[in-house]
Amino acid sequence: MNEKKCNGYESMYTFLSEEDFQKHLETCEDCQKEHARMQRVSELVQEAKPYMLQEKKKQSKILKAACAAFLVVFATFSVPIYTAGTNIYEDVIAMNEANSLTIEEMGLPVDEYGFLYIN
Ligand SMILES: [Zn+2]
Repeated sequence: MNEKKCNGYESMYTFLSEEDFQKHLETCEDCQKEHARMQRVSELVQEAKPYMLQEKKKQSKILKAACAAFLVVFATFSVPIYTAGTNIYEDVIAMNEANSLTIEEMGLPVDEYGFLYIN
């Protein structure tokens, strides 16, 4: 039987000192199995790391390409919009004229002072 009562691998690993844990490992079969499993997982993670990093780089490249493609499409379609007006000053003047319409000219009901009248 075990020298010390085993509270499970995680618990022993967390609460025992490195030295005590190693001692416990020698005597506890359950923890030996669990420890071997953890070692294997750790090895797998180490093995997978370079691949995971590569995958991440690949993904960020794809993302960058998508952004670039979007910008190209956006620029292509937005340029004709900005150049559609023959003269930007004419557009601005036209806009100002439209804005300077009085309420009455806009066809809305007004009172004797020219203010919007709602009854
Ligand atoms: Zn144990």
